[in-house]
Amino acid sequence: MKTIQIHCPDRPRLRYAVDIVVRHILGANIEWATPLAAAATDVVLRAGAGSITVPTTPLTQSGAAIHQELDEQIWRKPPWLTIRDTQVPAFGVPVGTTLPWTSHGATLHINFPLFDAAWILLSGQADGSSVDEHGRSCSREHLLVQHNCEMVPVVDLYAVLIEDALQRVAPGFEASVAQHSSPPLVTHDVDRPWEHDVTGTAHRLRRSAANLLRDRDPELAFGRVLSMMRRTDVMDTFDFICTALERFDLCGAFNFFGGGNHPLDATYRLGDPRIDALLCTLHKRGHQLGYHASYACLDTPDLIQTEFSFLRDHCERLGIVQNEWGGRHHYLRWRPDMWPAWDEAGLTFDSSVGFPDRTGYRLGTGHPVPVYDIASERTLDLVEVPLLLMEVAVLEYERSSLDELLTRVERLRNQSLITGGRVVILWHNDRLVHRRARQTYLKMLEILSARP
Ligand SMILES: [Zn+2]
Repeated sequence: MKTIQIHCPDRPRLRYAVDIVVRHILGANIEWATPLAAAATDVVLRAGAGSITVPTTPLTQSGAAIHQELDEQIWRKPPWLTIRDTQVPAFGVPVGTTLPWTSHGATLHINFPLFDAAWILLSGQADGSSVDEHGRSCSREHLLVQHNCEMVPVVDLYAVLIEDALQRVAPGFEASVAQHSSPPLVTHDVDRPWEHDVTGTAHRLRRSAANLLRDRDPELAFGRVLSMMRRTDVMDTFDFICTALERFDLCGAFNFFGGGNHPLDATYRLGDPRIDALLCTLHKRGHQLGYHASYACLDTPDLIQTEFSFLRDHCERLGIVQNEWGGRHHYLRWRPDMWPAWDEAGLTFDSSVGFPDRTGYRLGTGHPVPVYDIASERTLDLVEVPLLLMEVAVLEYERSSLDELLTRVERLRNQSLITGGRVVILWHNDRLVHRRARQTYLKMLEILSARP
């Protein structure tokens, strides 16, 4: 038995959340009971002779206004419940509510609006309204960060709660959140492929001296000088990355710009023979090429179509044809209204939605999920593959160590064994210059590919 019949109030946001939690994350087959009950307020899931009810709460706003709606509905001080040994906030009900459910014969009543809470997180509405100097939502205002639980995949654990409830009312039900997983994805945004493009000889010599005297890394210091003599480049770590990924039988993704004139954008241009050779090499080695949306795209989403088409057409002229194209915004400059632009441009997936300055589940899930467009109140074809960890966030923003980075990766990996999904990492080529960073990268791949 793997099919659930669903009775759901006729509200697109709710229907989306039910579809994502029950079908995409839990992995159950679903049948929508028709006609949908317009006056009903509970979602009812029927499996065999048993059923589960979930209360709902109408959420009509978006953006800053939704936070007032959340406040009014006591979303700011949720009671907590334990799901598979993890503390999870039960948004939408007051402290003192009986959690997670009450039982009446073959029916379990889950006592908080689980699907509405899931919608808030999955649709990107858990972000706060303040922005940083790059126009990115300040992560400290994120709903999960405020409750100190951004390392908890709340939506995935809600799916686990449904799984556990199904086991009670329909023993032997087959769907399992843990079984619904994909291999880890290690991504590399190509911002600075080569050092000599952005710095002169004098600067590189100064850095070499700093490597020797400050970093006490003679290998890198002399490597820098040697690379200048040989006209190679220390930031050109692509062969190392590919060889490492291939050793662990992992496919990597490399995201390239298709335009951009902002001072913080890449300096390379498609058509540069070295870039074209790099594109061809990565493709021939079996890795995935992706699109890196330039800095200005956040303010001018029309650029996404232009830049992506330019990149894809250029790759096709080089003989590189891919069935799927995904990618990410430079600097993780993303808002929920970027999703429709990616969808219209014909991209298959985006992987921008992670925290720029911390590790965790910004959408409350580690599962790739189709996205919801608030403007048109519908589900798009575009899939979001949530970014869970970026090396810059750990090493630069948090000023944590490489060892701490590995601890986080291990935690994400262990979590994925419980709640499925996909561990997605971002590590830039120009941050694999130091030997210790490369050793850590290898150790990370070992953790990610370890058999449970
Ligand atoms: Zn970038």
